[in-house]
Amino acid sequence: MLASVPHTAHYDSVGVAAHTVPSIATPYLSVVVPIYNEEESIPSLYERLTTSLTALGRSYEIITVDDGSRDRSFALLRELAQQDSRLRVVRFRRNFGQTAAFAAGFNRARGAVVVTIDADLQNDPQDIGKLLEQIDAGYDVVSGWRLHRQDRLLDRKLPSMLANRLISWATGVYLHDYGCSLKAYRTEVVKGIQLYGELHRFIPAIASWQGVSVTEIPVNHAARQFGTSKYGIGRTLRVVLDLLTVRFLLSYGTRPMQIFGLLGLVSFVAGLIPTLYLTVLKLLDWQTNIGDRPLLLLGVLLIIIGVQFISLGLIGELVMRVYYESQQKPIYVVREELHYPDTNEQAE
Ligand code: UDP
Ligand code: MG
Repeated sequence: MLASVPHTAHYDSVGVAAHTVPSIATPYLSVVVPIYNEEESIPSLYERLTTSLTALGRSYEIITVDDGSRDRSFALLRELAQQDSRLRVVRFRRNFGQTAAFAAGFNRARGAVVVTIDADLQNDPQDIGKLLEQIDAGYDVVSGWRLHRQDRLLDRKLPSMLANRLISWATGVYLHDYGCSLKAYRTEVVKGIQLYGELHRFIPAIASWQGVSVTEIPVNHAARQFGTSKYGIGRTLRVVLDLLTVRFLLSYGTRPMQIFGLLGLVSFVAGLIPTLYLTVLKLLDWQTNIGDRPLLLLGVLLIIIGVQFISLGLIGELVMRVYYESQQKPIYVVREELHYPDTNEQAE
């Protein structure tokens, strides 16, 4: 029997939960649920999650993150948490967004495996078992794929399909459904990632930098029963912009000079050619008027752009060093280390 100590989390002045009683037993699974105004869904979410998780027969904790809900979500969660020590509630001071909610959950996760799931019951808690099977099979990241997605075609499914293609192509991690919240990760994968903006959907791609194995499996998807979606069509554009960030960080995050420097050099040389040509013309015949040649403008423009890009590369190098060194963030991830001491050495 696992010892269960009631968690009484209190909140300090900056809204970060301080855990007064550390629980002794570490669960196998940590389920992270972001919640923003989902009062109608919470009772059946809790019931269905508990049923599915109990059926799995592994120890678990549910970390709900109330992302500044203005309805009764928090009150409902508190009631549930008082009765169930496996349920933890983190309450944000205001709405910080789904990515922040995930990050708070990941920070607090104690299990060996983290599963994320939406609170609106569009994901099916029954599918968690299927995700875990893939983790057991050795995968580090298992992504849900909403094969029969119950959302509107024009403003949700279509943009999402294009976005998935684009993300897959740009990051080299081919998934059909980046947007599906139902995913499972080995905990060390998410603990090693700092999330900003709305980057949560890119976790499998960002994690690919660590050299993880990623797979996807079809999961159920239901139409939203209660409330409304917290997002609109505007998300697609933001996703594309975020993709630029992710792509850059993945390929050039540790060597900005190599991309900006290259662009700069190309532009600089391309600008040098016409300006040199015009200079030669002028030197050959002092009477030639080169001041009104469009070529001059182009050459000067390319040179200036070139200098700017190279400077940007240098600044990027400085910023990158600050970024890694201030956090003492390694530029590599070790899988394991072996060292077998010499038997003679041991004897000494
Ligand atoms: N959510 C959140 N903070 C936000 C927006 C959404 O915690 O600022 C939660 C929301 O309560 C839900 C999940 O994130 O559990 C997904 O949101 P939603 O269902 O609105 O997105 P959709 O399924 O329409 O993509
Ligand atoms: Mg939803």
